[in-house]
Amino acid sequence: MNYDLTEEQELLRRTVREFAESRVAPVAEELDREERFPYDLVAEMAELGLMGIPIPEAYGGTGADTVSYAIAIEELTRIDSSVAITVAAHTSLGTMPIYLFGTEEQRLEWLPPLAAGERLAAFGLTEPNAGSDAGATRTRADLRDGDWVVNGSKMFITNAGTDITACCTITALTGEDEISNIVVPNGTPGYEISAPLHKLGWKASDTRELSFKDCAVPEGNLLGPRGRGFHQFMEILDGGRISVAAMGVGLAQGAYDLALAYAKEREQFGRPIASFQAVQFALADMSTEIEAGRQLVYRAAWLKDEGRDFGLAAAQAKLYTGLLSNRAANAALQIHGGYGFMQEFAISRLFRDQKILEIGEGTNEVQRMVIAKQLGL
Ligand SMILES: Cc1cc2nc3c(=O)[nH]c(=O)nc-3n(C[C@H](O)[C@H](O)[C@H](O)COP(=O)(O)OP(=O)(O)OC[C@H]3O[C@@H](n4cnc5c(N)ncnc54)[C@H](O)[C@@H]3O)c2cc1C
Repeated sequence: MNYDLTEEQELLRRTVREFAESRVAPVAEELDREERFPYDLVAEMAELGLMGIPIPEAYGGTGADTVSYAIAIEELTRIDSSVAITVAAHTSLGTMPIYLFGTEEQRLEWLPPLAAGERLAAFGLTEPNAGSDAGATRTRADLRDGDWVVNGSKMFITNAGTDITACCTITALTGEDEISNIVVPNGTPGYEISAPLHKLGWKASDTRELSFKDCAVPEGNLLGPRGRGFHQFMEILDGGRISVAAMGVGLAQGAYDLALAYAKEREQFGRPIASFQAVQFALADMSTEIEAGRQLVYRAAWLKDEGRDFGLAAAQAKLYTGLLSNRAANAALQIHGGYGFMQEFAISRLFRDQKILEIGEGTNEVQRMVIAKQLGL
């Protein structure tokens, strides 16, 4: 067994860490407070090749493995979740369906600007009445005169409404009990995108409600065989869970780093609070759990890279790191005392950004359902 990362993976970690610390950290609080989408940072990440890490070079991506991708997402989240989810949703949810299920023609049409980070993509699965029960989609697409005519709505869709969003792949009923994935380009008549939603966390990321009224897209925008949509989105979610699990590790690591630094600096009763055993034990527990979570994430990513079944490992990693990041953010804020409750202390943002890691890409309960099913229950 070899736990060492490759030189490329180590280099990527250093590159992303340096970028996150030097470029993201100084503006993260302001972007969050102003709920402003980080266009400049996206452009810089595009330059660094971070917007298409697992997409092959032939389609304009970096062509790296899933472990590398998880490392990059972890390092971004360590500093800021809004920036990290922008990359993760664009890659795992927006770009991947086209790469995995698209024809060569569709790949060549859509992937180069997406993988290069010039444009963003979204994936619209959730609906107002179809969340955990994602197969209960009501959005319909009817084939009329060579077009899919889409009617319905989608809820909470990341990256759908930025100025540089190219498209959203949506799930839609294309027949009785028949779900298919269709790429809807932004700007298509009948496709309306709400104003950005106001959220507890991930405030600088783009989250929208979408509505489709007789929205006609070319028949050729169907991804993969008609009626395979359910299987396709399950596959997409399995992969997406690795990136959200990487966010859990990154957020926990970021919270730990802030708490450690603060504990060494803050003095009470005449000495640094880090000298109190209660604080030391909190940090010791955090560091142990973070390491455990990291191994789960890397293992899930490695299984995927090996072409092996990774659904169980990804769900376990997502569940564990969701819970882990909750405990870590809470303990880290506790170590900050009242200052941790103040907006100008980064831990308050990490605390707010954490909760969605237990909800998005399947709630904790949904992960347990996936795990139980894999256990044969
Ligand atoms: C900021 C943000 C970004 C998002 N981005 C995207 C995106 O890009 N694309 C996209 O498609 N979706 C996106 N989502 C949607 C997200 O995936 C859903 O919110 C999530 O899957 C849960 O669905 P729901 O909110 O409808 O909750 P519900 O499904 O209504 O769940 C409510 C509660 O009931 C529980 N529950 C439901 N069913 C069961 C059951 N059978 N057993 C036990 N408990 C159950 C849930 O675990 C949860 O605690 C995003 C959401 C947010 C908030």
